[in-house]
Amino acid sequence: MNNVEHIKCLIIGSGPAGYAAAIYAARAGLKPVLYAGMQPGGQLTLTSDVENYPGYSDGVLGPQMMEDFRKQAERFGTDLRYSHITKVDFSQKPRRVWSDEDKELTADAIIIATGASAKWLGMPNEQRLYGAGVSACAVCDGFFYKGLDVAVVGGGDTAAEEATYLSKMCSKVHLLVRRDEMRASEIMKQRVLNTPNIEVHWNTETLDIQGEQTVESLLLKNNETNKEFELKVKGFFVAIGHKPNTDLFAGQLTLDETGYIITEGKTTLTNVEGVFASGDVQDNIYRQAVTAAGTGCMAALDAERWLSDQGLH
Ligand code: NDP
Repeated sequence: MNNVEHIKCLIIGSGPAGYAAAIYAARAGLKPVLYAGMQPGGQLTLTSDVENYPGYSDGVLGPQMMEDFRKQAERFGTDLRYSHITKVDFSQKPRRVWSDEDKELTADAIIIATGASAKWLGMPNEQRLYGAGVSACAVCDGFFYKGLDVAVVGGGDTAAEEATYLSKMCSKVHLLVRRDEMRASEIMKQRVLNTPNIEVHWNTETLDIQGEQTVESLLLKNNETNKEFELKVKGFFVAIGHKPNTDLFAGQLTLDETGYIITEGKTTLTNVEGVFASGDVQDNIYRQAVTAAGTGCMAALDAERWLSDQGLH
């Protein structure tokens, strides 16, 4: 039998939620072990300037901010591991998990901070121009397109919300909807339709994003007429939904119909005792670095209290 390592407080994920949880857990003496996952630093490592995180008065690059979080977590003794958890079994105590190093671990408390990933259209130029005109977050990047023309793709509440947000700072917002109707709730749809500088392009599919260094135009197709046309925009916001990174927890934790972990009331408690969830993996509404960090802090405090109550800390 292989050696099973026991951990008092395991943190899965290394975005703002995971690192904030680690800072609090380490300072509380919980000796946290943090598995950084497939993309250390999470979604912020895919973005450029972050100007809305309080405390960085001159703004900061997303990857740099995550480096700062990491250093702060390590300064207090977080045991950071650059590998990922591949399997969990929450049916017994202590909880069991396995890592990609083929290692089995047991843990008293587990904080899940595996985040979510934006869904993409899947075009090569979409990734090439990511951060250079292509974005999946209007609140993060909209400011850079002040007074310019942009396009948003999607027809759900996220797309409606992004388009409405951008309409307040951009000169024109083109909303590209692939069908002849929007999936968004009626109120959000009406808001879009009643905003003068939002133009909805129905039955419209994006074929390509054009531009050398930055986005210059889009190649679109009207699905009814099959006609292709070009649209000049400086920003292209993909808003076709997010996918929470919860495949690992299916069948182990209660998830909502879209796969987000359900937490109890204003806490980070999941339906499994001693397992807590923080950040975007349990939040499909706010999705900000600062809110993720806030819930990471909450998860560490909830874990500490729970461990104390159990006589494990
Ligand atoms: P949804 O799954 O609701 O909508 C996705 C949209 O993107 C649909 O219009 C879909 O089109 C379109 N889409 C999907 N793939 C493509 C593609 N390849 N090309 C073009 N368009 C595509 O995701 P949302 O993120 O909008 O919402 C997720 C959940 O979060 C919902 O329950 C929503 O209500 C909620 N939410 C609530 C908010 C609020 O209340 N403030 C804000 C944001 C989200 P089609 O309809 O044809 O499938």
